[in-house]
Amino acid sequence: MIRLCQSESAFTIQQYYDALQSQGIACLIRNQFISGAAGDLPIQDTQPELWLMHKDDLVIAKKVLEEITASSEDGEWVCSSCNEPQEPAFNLCWQCQQPRNSA
Ligand SMILES: [Zn+2]
Repeated sequence: MIRLCQSESAFTIQQYYDALQSQGIACLIRNQFISGAAGDLPIQDTQPELWLMHKDDLVIAKKVLEEITASSEDGEWVCSSCNEPQEPAFNLCWQCQQPRNSA
């Protein structure tokens, strides 16, 4: 097995996982359900991780992830702090200055 990526967001990891599965790439999620214990553990041990079953899939898997990332950057986003919809061009919330993608 080989680790593909790590994210603060279990949602992001799940999205990647679903996309890889739909491409027939065998993978699994680690640390998916332990975020509730985040206060007691080093942060690198608590973030969800996506692992590939076969390292030969690494190149194609990275391409799948790049496509997801690229397509999600095209659209509007919603501030995680005040839930205001944001224009795609902005990286800070116009209302409360919360950075984009911050949890
Ligand atoms: Zn905001």
